[in-house]
Amino acid sequence: MADFDLDLFVIGGGSGGVRAARIAADYGARVMVAEEYRVGGTCVIRGCVPKKLLVYASHVHHEIEDAAGFGWSIPSATFDWATLITNKDKEIARLEAAYISNVEKSGARIVKARAVFEDAHTLRLSSGESVRSKYILVATGAAPNHGTAIPGIEHVISSNEVFYLPKQPRRIVIQGGGYIALEFAGIFAGMGSDVTLVYRGDNILRGFDEDVRKHLRAEMEKAGINILTGCTVSKVDRHGDEYTSHLSNGSSVTSDQVMFAIGRHPNVANLGLEKAGVAINPKNGGITVDGYSQTSVPHIYAVGDVTNRVNLTPVAIREGHAFADTIFGNRPTRVDHADIPTAVFSQPEVGTVGLTEAEARARHSHVDVYKAEFRPMKATLSGRDTRILMKLIVDGISDRVLGCHIVGPEAGEIIQVVGVAVKLKATKADFDATIAVHPTAAEELVTMRKPFARYVREAAE
Ligand code: FAD
Ligand code: NDP
Repeated sequence: MADFDLDLFVIGGGSGGVRAARIAADYGARVMVAEEYRVGGTCVIRGCVPKKLLVYASHVHHEIEDAAGFGWSIPSATFDWATLITNKDKEIARLEAAYISNVEKSGARIVKARAVFEDAHTLRLSSGESVRSKYILVATGAAPNHGTAIPGIEHVISSNEVFYLPKQPRRIVIQGGGYIALEFAGIFAGMGSDVTLVYRGDNILRGFDEDVRKHLRAEMEKAGINILTGCTVSKVDRHGDEYTSHLSNGSSVTSDQVMFAIGRHPNVANLGLEKAGVAINPKNGGITVDGYSQTSVPHIYAVGDVTNRVNLTPVAIREGHAFADTIFGNRPTRVDHADIPTAVFSQPEVGTVGLTEAEARARHSHVDVYKAEFRPMKATLSGRDTRILMKLIVDGISDRVLGCHIVGPEAGEIIQVVGVAVKLKATKADFDATIAVHPTAAEELVTMRKPFARYVREAAE
């Protein structure tokens, strides 16, 4: 195929694109990656990583508040938003440089440019260059939704801007009830801001286990977050440095910032996909792919958020790796999207894997639910008013653990390991046979003896 400049052209230097480029280059492919903004993509530059750094920063405040019960007196702690953001920016720049260096070490070339399809094998770069590649991987990620064009939408920030605010908002209105809205509600509340969360449905975290939703909401309200459900922001007015959010229920809230975190859409626009013949999935707006991430055009693949399957960094990375193994490693690899563990870095955290109670009861005739709700040991001396929730969903016939749901400190760390057990199809008896680590909160997962509830659906006659 002498008329190709490259074996692989990757559009997008984020989680999925970078992994695919590195692995393909390791297999000996000639690879180029185009990135129009910053290498590392959403996760590294304005997603998971800076978000977690801000979560840590707000945890420090909790530690200071909890200190007195353990005998520590901390005279008058002060917090400087600008220092936090400067330090965060330095760390993100260090990570971006490490990403660039790792890609280059693998032998792939990075170009800082936007790339669009000219035809099914040709990419045009914003730098003016055109390149022809045998295979093309679309890994362009996703971008924040703005919702309907309400009056004053220009005053509203998204997760793209929140990481660069010049000062901490004393009061913030956040619209949304999913991952990003809850994580930033916790970050700002932890740092002492007044937070109002506006959510259109009846309770936050739709799609998660009902007990998790109730428990997290109660915990967030105890932490002082004002959660308004059943309404939306219909208009935002600006008066100097203040904003008034008018809500669909007739009330209004004044704040220093208004943020929407109402989902994200795959970056498919203005990419020239139609010139290449790449089909879009009308159901989710992402690029249509099969189990190998192959699009409707056999030599064009797509991974990560642009396919709108499971929009998480480790999933994009796994899909990118599987693509490179399939095409350049001669090892056809499908990604298994079942039982993906996930955490919401709200405060307290949520960790979840497998089926919710409702899903299990819809799919299985016998379901045992084990549930524990308790005060964490640390709270006995700190005096903090908080409780942990742990829940196991078990198939009453095979004894297999179908799901695990945790709300509490380090739930993300715990669920990563429980995820291995669920993937291995562990049974409740396996959990029971595991000796507890004491004193921990996670030991509850191996010491819950009696079902909290047992649901048996008789077979239809
Ligand atoms: P991205 O990482 O978004 O990379 C796509 C890249 O393509 C971008 O750098 C973009 O600039 C570039 N690009 C787009 N079009 C072009 C073009 N035409 N030419 C050149 N370059 C282009 N996931 C988790 O698992 N854990 C978390 O804690 C977590 N936290 C998050 C917090 C926030 C605030 C957000 C927004 C997301 C978070 N996510 C988290 C989701 C995670 O960031 C994404 O799932 C992940 O980044 C998807 O990787 P990707 O490679 O598909 O896309
Ligand atoms: P989510 O899909 O998690 O949540 C979107 C929220 O906005 C939902 O509560 C939804 O309500 C609401 N919403 C949607 N449209 C509107 C609208 N037009 N008006 C008002 N409310 C609306 O998206 P996020 O933006 O929070 O995050 C995007 C994705 O990024 C996540 O789904 C996740 O895949 C990933 N992510 C992962 C993180 C992690 O792993 N810790 C952290 C952050 C992001 P409803 O439920 O009623 O539809």
